[in-house]
Amino acid sequence: MANTSSPAEPTVDVVVVGAGFAGLYALYRLRAQGLSVRVYEAGSDVGGTWYWNRYPGARCDVESVDYSYSFSDELQQEWDWTEKYASQPEILRYVRHVADRFDLRRDICFDTRVRAAHLDEDAMQWTVQSDRETVTARYCVFATGALSTAMTPDIPGLEEFAGETHHTGHWPHDGVDFAGKRVGVIGTGSSGIQSIPIIAASADQVFVFQRSANYSVPAGNTAIDARTRARVKANYAERRRLSRESGGGSPYDAYPKKTLEADPAERRAAFEARWQLGGVLFGKTFPDQTTDPAANDEAKAFVEAKIREIVADTAVAELLTPKDHPIGTKRICTDTDYYRTFNRDNVTLVDLRSAPIVAIDAHGVVTTARRYDLDVLIFATGFDAMTGSLDRIDIRGRAATTLRDAWKDGPRTYLGLGVDGFPNMFVVTGPGSPSVLANMVLGAEQHVDWIADCLAYVDEHGCTAIEATPEAVDDWVAECNERAAATLFPVANSWYLGANIPGKPRVFMPFIGGFGAYGNICAEVAAAGYKGFSVMAGDPR
Ligand code: FAD
Ligand code: NAP
Repeated sequence: MANTSSPAEPTVDVVVVGAGFAGLYALYRLRAQGLSVRVYEAGSDVGGTWYWNRYPGARCDVESVDYSYSFSDELQQEWDWTEKYASQPEILRYVRHVADRFDLRRDICFDTRVRAAHLDEDAMQWTVQSDRETVTARYCVFATGALSTAMTPDIPGLEEFAGETHHTGHWPHDGVDFAGKRVGVIGTGSSGIQSIPIIAASADQVFVFQRSANYSVPAGNTAIDARTRARVKANYAERRRLSRESGGGSPYDAYPKKTLEADPAERRAAFEARWQLGGVLFGKTFPDQTTDPAANDEAKAFVEAKIREIVADTAVAELLTPKDHPIGTKRICTDTDYYRTFNRDNVTLVDLRSAPIVAIDAHGVVTTARRYDLDVLIFATGFDAMTGSLDRIDIRGRAATTLRDAWKDGPRTYLGLGVDGFPNMFVVTGPGSPSVLANMVLGAEQHVDWIADCLAYVDEHGCTAIEATPEAVDDWVAECNERAAATLFPVANSWYLGANIPGKPRVFMPFIGGFGAYGNICAEVAAAGYKGFSVMAGDPR
């Protein structure tokens, strides 16, 4: 790789890849620490997920007041969220506001994809190659996102389709006009379930191609009134404290009993109250819902009865009922009128289990049963989650070992933050951290704070490098696996396990022990002088 600057003089202290919530906070925090930082972002603006996912109905499923930065109380006080679950445009406006308010843009290279990052072991520097330039840095921070590499299935004939195709994760900036069109949507995960009701309201016809049904609960979105807003702002510090101690990174009161300790009427009332309130926390109505199969069956039965109650056609209701995963073990979806949408005359549920897609041709989608003529085809088919964006960068650590090779049997990290053989390299909300199982904005803040403190420690001790030890990585991987095995999560063919990507190793990727517990472990590791990391003294230059 061509190097445009002397290895003895790194171009910057830190290269950060990605300008979503995580990369922006990394820039803010590391710059405040006196480090020089350069951020590379493939998109044309900040926002990450909220820059790319502009499909109709895209909104967060963690409450907006929690799904936002906590690092600046001034920011918390001055920003007014308008809805309980903010829409994509509002979240993007917020992220842009943060970038401007804290003068972050001047250190971000937009429209620039990082292609490679190679360690120079002698100089203990990273050489980072992007579309724009090659720079050197003491540290590399990958804030590349856990759900940032869209996955379009390899269906024969896709390129022949004469109509428009779009992926929810790469939505055109000027929107898509569905009026009078025949629209096919492949995929019924969170993105499909959020967008289908809105597409159906304007399209002529919608064909929903479903391979696996998912559990969805009402989002329960509402406008935030002035009183609620004032109450949240007056108690923000306490709210954030509760979030940091919680299992999922937002305030939450578990029902004080296990599922089967409640009698049937009490149980139903508890589920009904959560259903009426709306939101993903339905999946945690009782504390044992994703660990005890009998408890899970109760939650499933409740939601399945709701599906039958809402969907008029019993055969369609049956198809919309998930067949093979415990509720909550695939990300529970939240919706506004998803099930009701199947009562519309212009919406058809296509069951791909009984008649799989065999091809796409110029006119539309061909299943083993028939052809569906379409004007627009939407892929709501998800992402190469957690490792996809890292995997697409040629990352080479000690002895030129590639990260791809080091992770060929599944990702291996210590705390999700460090990898043995890759000194001075950090991953934000990567595999081995709570990441996608928790509020990811607070997760990114917690990671970035930990990384920033770690770099300060290295400098204060006159050291040059920090690297996870192989033993610490082995132990952490074992701990993550053990914790996952004690739950029902590994039963589901989910993207948490890489099951949506052909050939991807089946490893449960996130740390499932809870956001608060994880934060405590990270804090203990730091307090013990970065236990499990080797901190290398001396100046290699
Ligand atoms: P991202 O926002 O994904 O940003 C990563 C950035 O890195 C991207 O902009 C990408 O272009 C860039 N990048 C990647 N590779 C390269 C490269 N090689 N070179 C240059 N740039 C690169 N989480 C929640 O906690 N609550 C929610 O309600 C929620 N809702 C979601 C809704 C949708 C539709 C999706 C897809 C995800 C949602 N998530 C949610 C997860 C969401 O991804 C995170 O909450 C959060 O936005 C991630 O921020 P990030 O900065 O870590 O990553
Ligand atoms: P997803 O959950 O992975 O769903 C993808 C869907 O596409 C699944 O129904 C899948 O079916 C289907 N699919 C994939 N390949 C297919 C193929 N070859 N043929 C037919 N169907 C196929 O993706 P997503 O909906 O984009 O959501 C990903 C994650 O992003 C979520 O779990 C969540 O964490 C986050 N998200 C959150 C929100 C929110 O509400 N805030 C919204 C969107 C996304 P199978 O199940 O059979 O594989």
